[in-house]
Amino acid sequence: MKSYSGGIRHDYKDTPIDAPTSARRHWPWFFLGLLLPVIAVSMFLASGPDDAIVPTPGSSSMQSTGVELALALPEISLSDIRLLEDIEPEPRGENLSLTVQPGDNLELLFRRNDLRLSDLAEMTSLSDVREHLRMLRPGDRIEINHDGGNVLSLNRELDEIRMLRIGRDGEGFSAVIVEREVDIRSVGAHSVIQDSLFEAGMEAGISDAVTMNMAGIFQWDIDFIQDVRVGDEFTVIHEELWRNGIKLRDGEIVAAEFINRGTSYRAARFIDPSGRTDYFTPDGRSVRKAFIRAPVDFTRVSSNFNLNRRHPVLNTIRAHRGVDYAAPSGTPVFAAGDGKIVFRGVQNGYGNTVILQHGGNITTLYAHLSRFAAPRLGSRISQGQTIAYVGQSGLATGPHLHYEYRINGVHRNPRTVTLPPADPIPAEHWETFSATASPLWRQLDLYRGVRAAIASN
Ligand SMILES: [Zn+2]
Repeated sequence: MKSYSGGIRHDYKDTPIDAPTSARRHWPWFFLGLLLPVIAVSMFLASGPDDAIVPTPGSSSMQSTGVELALALPEISLSDIRLLEDIEPEPRGENLSLTVQPGDNLELLFRRNDLRLSDLAEMTSLSDVREHLRMLRPGDRIEINHDGGNVLSLNRELDEIRMLRIGRDGEGFSAVIVEREVDIRSVGAHSVIQDSLFEAGMEAGISDAVTMNMAGIFQWDIDFIQDVRVGDEFTVIHEELWRNGIKLRDGEIVAAEFINRGTSYRAARFIDPSGRTDYFTPDGRSVRKAFIRAPVDFTRVSSNFNLNRRHPVLNTIRAHRGVDYAAPSGTPVFAAGDGKIVFRGVQNGYGNTVILQHGGNITTLYAHLSRFAAPRLGSRISQGQTIAYVGQSGLATGPHLHYEYRINGVHRNPRTVTLPPADPIPAEHWETFSATASPLWRQLDLYRGVRAAIASN
């Protein structure tokens, strides 16, 4: 057993930014904005590599980013794994760079490359290492340094940030997880819709994924298919992950505003201590409702709520106490709200059925499923979690989701029932939220200033 030394160190770069500085940085863009119908304002607020970590809670949104990201990472239990600073291995032997193909596992890779299987066995016997070597994904890269098949070191990228490094250590092996530096930059962009939402995003340099996420945040108030109009505008402040000057990918949205037919909707991110991300309005209300209106990606609504419907199979008048959403077999079905699985099995004409119990004495029912997803009877379920897949089990003429919504046991029309709001920011987190969010509201205000300047021109 190797000794564990040191605590978790997160090397993300965090730098507080003060509003006046960021405002100055925007100034040249401001004038450019006066000339262009669509303005993209980029704020590169990330620090340089030499900046120290300055934890000053509440002074800006950015200084807490690293911590938030760290919270989102899976926890690693540490016994044989030591977390150290970035250490470059000394190359002594021959380097092998392997890319995992579908169906590969390490044993196969070792056999194929004439590497010693006993070395692999020794490495996987290090507790906590096994799990990091077991699951290989196609496309994963594994770097091995060996001397005639004797493994000297093995490196595996676990994700964008963490790298597992196993090295020969006297008689055996020891492992470290190295956290590599990732710059998290905050980028803002604003656009006015001329044609479509996605085109407007593109013109402002916002990726479709970020535009989609923004629509996801405001989907509870705005129907992005029906309600969006020419002249609507939006601002998105989101993260970007960079390493060594290369952008790895877009990160989460930290704040956004959508102005739909003159009404402004604003939201800022909050990550609670358990790592759950949610978006809240300036007064701390959740942007979400407690229930998703249609808990499936449906292609069309095939049968509405109707208490006097002729049953398509039985050909008798039978109340239809739910909504049918036609969708191909296998389409994921989501939990409409947070809750608990109280039924998961076959229910007569309903076929495979799931019933969820939610707060406020509300239950939701999902029927004609082809199969169930992993969560078992009694499991706690989060809104949006996949619970099952569309099918046509039971009495059904084609694949669809039959969805019911009951309050105190009484069926209500899922398409029109007033949905309760999701919980607001808990009182104990209000101060943290407001400290994190207020610089973001100011940044959104800044864009509003830009808009005003355009309007008066
Ligand atoms: Zn139905």
